[in-house]
Amino acid sequence: MGEALTRNETEVLALLRGANGPMTAYQLLGRMQRDGGAVAPPTVSGALKGLEEAGVVQRIATLRAWAAVTSPAPGVVAICDDCGTVRSVEAPSLFESLHQRLAAEGFAEARQTIEVHGRCGDCAGDKA
Ligand SMILES: [Zn+2]
Repeated sequence: MGEALTRNETEVLALLRGANGPMTAYQLLGRMQRDGGAVAPPTVSGALKGLEEAGVVQRIATLRAWAAVTSPAPGVVAICDDCGTVRSVEAPSLFESLHQRLAAEGFAEARQTIEVHGRCGDCAGDKA
């Protein structure tokens, strides 16, 4: 963080922050098409890479999509399979215990993402 974002990164981040849920690179590419013509795919993938390194977006592997990071602390990514919303749920004790277990195995973590699929409070409420 703290480094200035490029114009493409700023645009991709704004799209992800304005979206109701995660977006695929393909969807982002579609939204970035301008009057002058299409934006090249590497423009989007490069911007996503830079934003991921800056810690402001994260890849949702099970959806093959990207979402803006909503919490600075590592969290469990809770994905609603009904409405598609994604939120980060802070779980510091879970990550601390995971870290300790991995360290005991001599495993050096680079990054970790825990994705949980289910139904958000709104959608679960509708079904009740
Ligand atoms: Zn939902």
